[in-house]
Amino acid sequence: MHWMGRIAAAALCVALQACVTAPADSPAPAITAETRAPATILVSIDGFRPDYLERGVTPVLSKLAAEGVTAPMRPSFPSKTFPNHYTLVTGLRPDHNGIVANTMEDPARPGETFTMATDDPFWWNEAEPLWVTADKAGIRTATMFWPGSNVPVGGTRAAKWPNAVTGGTRPDDWQQFNQAVSGHQRVAAVIDWMRRPPAIRPRFVTLYFDTIDTAGHLYGPHDKRTTAAIGEIDATIGALVDGLKALGQPVNLVIVADHGMAATSSDRVVALDSIADPADYHMVESGPYAALAAIPGHEAALEKRLLAPHDHMQCWRKAEIPARFAYGTNPRVPPYLCLAEIGWLISKSAPTESSSGGSHGYDNADPAMAALFIANGPAFASGRALPAFDNVDIQPLLAQLLGVTPPKGDGSTSTWDAAKR
Ligand code: AMP
Ligand code: ZN
Ligand code: ZN
Repeated sequence: MHWMGRIAAAALCVALQACVTAPADSPAPAITAETRAPATILVSIDGFRPDYLERGVTPVLSKLAAEGVTAPMRPSFPSKTFPNHYTLVTGLRPDHNGIVANTMEDPARPGETFTMATDDPFWWNEAEPLWVTADKAGIRTATMFWPGSNVPVGGTRAAKWPNAVTGGTRPDDWQQFNQAVSGHQRVAAVIDWMRRPPAIRPRFVTLYFDTIDTAGHLYGPHDKRTTAAIGEIDATIGALVDGLKALGQPVNLVIVADHGMAATSSDRVVALDSIADPADYHMVESGPYAALAAIPGHEAALEKRLLAPHDHMQCWRKAEIPARFAYGTNPRVPPYLCLAEIGWLISKSAPTESSSGGSHGYDNADPAMAALFIANGPAFASGRALPAFDNVDIQPLLAQLLGVTPPKGDGSTSTWDAAKR
């Protein structure tokens, strides 16, 4: 039997609590519980660094890791929220999945800017998220927030008001993102879905938490308020685990983060206007990296300043971005990328007030950008720590758990050979 099949059978025994205890010659035990197949729940804890598990405030996550599989996970470049969440569910690098940044422009849509509130499928149609693959295979899906999950992927939005979308697929159940919905409300929604009768119960679920990332930005990764946020999310995940157990619902939990967090300060800022003439460029993004386009006719002037060596920052033409970033072929990547040294920020001009906090978007191989990964459930081995791997391997893992065949991505399944029970 395939390893996933063996694991499903074992989970069935656990749910029925009858398989191993009845002697061979006794009558068949009465079936008292519904036989539930394992569900797959993908949990994202935005901005959760793997070393947050070492603060002594994560009894639930630390136990799931100790009794499951864990590893530090390398995000994709840029180590930002939207690109990496789309990578996690498409198996494609941001350069290949179309969500190349949290804020972006596309030469095919002059005058338009993609932001984290954009739900026009045009921006999302370069890749197939796993809930679409699952839907095609007849698997019911539900998302308690995930970037892109409110978008009918594959659809077309009319250019004229009321901008109706034709075609496209959303998860069977989805929620419009709202930061005000508490972690416990999000967990309660998932538990309610799992309480449904089998015909309308999801088999693939996503769940997203943002408060640790928010605290990391506001206070920095080492602040006690960030540690408090970590403890609160740990307890919230405890409520999820307890709720599923009470339902007798076996689950393969795949818990990830999109990126890590580095401490930043107004003392570590590269002011771009002191390097190049602002009349020569248009800045699409700034922060741990800056993405720029030259004002037409000003290319030579900009390149002369930008491409020279700088302290705490390096700039490239998009075609010359080092290959290890896997970034720069997509038309949505602006012509110039400047990347700051870890902990430094690239800003339009020098800061006028002192501040400190945290940020991400840096070199995806930097240890401060590493992301949490924990897998726990009937499909997974217990007590296994794996070496670091790339987050493009998550979607192939989820596809295996669901038994679906997604389009070819950038990841591989070989990472998971050592993760099986
Ligand atoms: P970042 O700027 O990369 O740190 O983005 C993190 C922020 O993204 C979170 O604080 C959320 O407010 C926001 N966010 C996360 N998911 C969504 C979503 N599905 N729709 C809109 N905004 C989101
Ligand atoms: Zn994030
Ligand atoms: Zn963030």
